[in-house]
Amino acid sequence: MIVVMKSDATMSDISTVIRTLESMGYKPHPTRGADRTIIGVVDARQGADFSQVESANGVEQIIPITKAYKMVSREFKPENTVVNVAGIAVGGPEFVVMAGPCAVENRDQVLTAARAVRKGGASILRGGAFKPRTSPYSFQGLGEEGLRILLAAKRETGLPVVTEVISPELVGLVSEYADILQVGARNMQNYALLEAVGKIRKPVLLKRGMMSTVEELLMAAEYILSNGNQQVILCERGIRTFEKATRNTLDISAVPVIKRNSHLPVIVDPSHAAGHTEFVTPLALAAVAAGADGIIVEVHPCPETAWCDGVQSLSIEMFDEMMTAVRAVATAMGRPLHEPR
Ligand code: PEP
Ligand code: MN
Repeated sequence: MIVVMKSDATMSDISTVIRTLESMGYKPHPTRGADRTIIGVVDARQGADFSQVESANGVEQIIPITKAYKMVSREFKPENTVVNVAGIAVGGPEFVVMAGPCAVENRDQVLTAARAVRKGGASILRGGAFKPRTSPYSFQGLGEEGLRILLAAKRETGLPVVTEVISPELVGLVSEYADILQVGARNMQNYALLEAVGKIRKPVLLKRGMMSTVEELLMAAEYILSNGNQQVILCERGIRTFEKATRNTLDISAVPVIKRNSHLPVIVDPSHAAGHTEFVTPLALAAVAAGADGIIVEVHPCPETAWCDGVQSLSIEMFDEMMTAVRAVATAMGRPLHEPR
């Protein structure tokens, strides 16, 4: 439930309500908005007596949270959450582009990609060091060596790094190197992993499972927030449907639906949705127009030789072309592109 304070409630009114809730055994989560403060309580027992809170000074009303997810819901926190990634605001006024190869292959490949995407206007570098592959015989990633390469690219270009973590045991290691820990589509309901990334203090990029509903995505995010980590970015990356013309079907409506139901930032991955370079730019532009906070795009210096997802990876020239269009649409939407410093 949510305790809505009056707009003229004093600090002392607010702390009295917080102390009352604590004395009843709850953990209140206050949010100070521009106009008023609201106090969320996740575990409010059905039928519990809140008359003491209801009649306290400065309380306007008590509203039950109707959704199955609580802390991620917009009812719980009406203002947008802005996730700070090493000084870059995701979910703020600017549109953010994350780009780089699917997998880290070697130093030269990552450094070439990092310099190029930075030049093209990306402000965060992506690259997988641990790859969750459908086949156990496919390249599984360079592991820690891959993380070291990403760090070298970050040091040279200044771009913060987003990289995937595939198991709870690796969360400590990956968070030593990464600025954002990515939980991939195949792991969206790996609850041990969600709890582990909920206990760290670094941003998490949670990708929607290819067979998951928006509600299941929000419930997965709830695991992370309820374990203490509020810095979560959601990602729509396409879902599995009967359509075979694309690798996945980009559920573009997920963007406004998530925005309505949650305060968390949402980005789109046009690469894994499209599955082919030809469709990446139109999907990226649709993401900007639908109100996404950013995109994450696969770019490879030589897509023909890529070890992983080459068919959907943009060349540097294609990335530059896409970015010209992304910049124009973002400006038209009143959401200018965040340019790398
Ligand atoms: C990736 O980002 O390279 C990846 C494996 O994505 P997803 O988890 O969306 O399939
Ligand atoms: Mn990939």
